[in-house]
Amino acid sequence: RNQIFKLSTGSTDFDKLLEGGIESMAITEVFGESGSGKTQLSHTLCVTAQMPGPNGYNGGKVIFIDTEHTFRTDRLRSIADRFNLDRNGVLENILYARAYTSDHQYQLLKNVGEMLHREAGVFKLLIVDSIISHFRVDYYGRKEMAHRQHRLGQLMARLHKISEEYNIAVFITNQIMSDLNNLEQSDPQRPVGGNILAHASTTRISLRKVLNGKRIAKVYASPNLADSEVAFTITSGGIDN
Ligand code: ATP
Ligand code: MG
Repeated sequence: RNQIFKLSTGSTDFDKLLEGGIESMAITEVFGESGSGKTQLSHTLCVTAQMPGPNGYNGGKVIFIDTEHTFRTDRLRSIADRFNLDRNGVLENILYARAYTSDHQYQLLKNVGEMLHREAGVFKLLIVDSIISHFRVDYYGRKEMAHRQHRLGQLMARLHKISEEYNIAVFITNQIMSDLNNLEQSDPQRPVGGNILAHASTTRISLRKVLNGKRIAKVYASPNLADSEVAFTITSGGIDN
């Protein structure tokens, strides 16, 4: 039961980039500009996590913590159709919670931990879309930064514990810096969240839009994975080749 498993992104190349997919017992972070596909990838994983996979993976239930109110059941229905899964069955296997503030988000994860303790082995994926939006609002400005980072660190520690204690894949989305200085850098996108997120995330992936409507995924500063990038598309059936 404690064997590490990997969840498909829906794109063959993207999975290859991740050496199989989004890994359990780890935190995978994606960041990128608006429309780059973070929420679509979250929705796709809600479905692929329910399907059997390599190494004896049987599929399982999903927890989705939504901070931006972008969870859409109609998106999930069309992704379920693509994989020939029963629409209602797919929706029933997703435990959805909306987080209204950063404190609420933290509290929800406490409740999730308690629930996972009661229902061991049922849930395989925990999504937080996005990890940072409430923190940017609740702790605004330079003076609040140390406090914000402290609270964010506590939240990430809680996610780590959940991923390792219950063999769960934790998937979080993050935003990018939008200051002018950033545009002049060779790396056009930098994630927010500072050292706290950088150290807490096991794998960090940047997503970006390119001209032909495609998206590019790139592993960001990983010691384990090759520093390469792949193209993928967003369809009504979710992330695809
Ligand atoms: P944000 O930072 O604003 O939350 P995001 O990275 O979460 O952005 P998504 O919501 O995942 O972005 O992606 C939205 C994009 O997905 C849209 O710009 C659109 O191009 C594409 N998209 C959404 N639904 C479909 C669909 N059914 N078919 C094709 N493309 C779609
Ligand atoms: Mg989004």
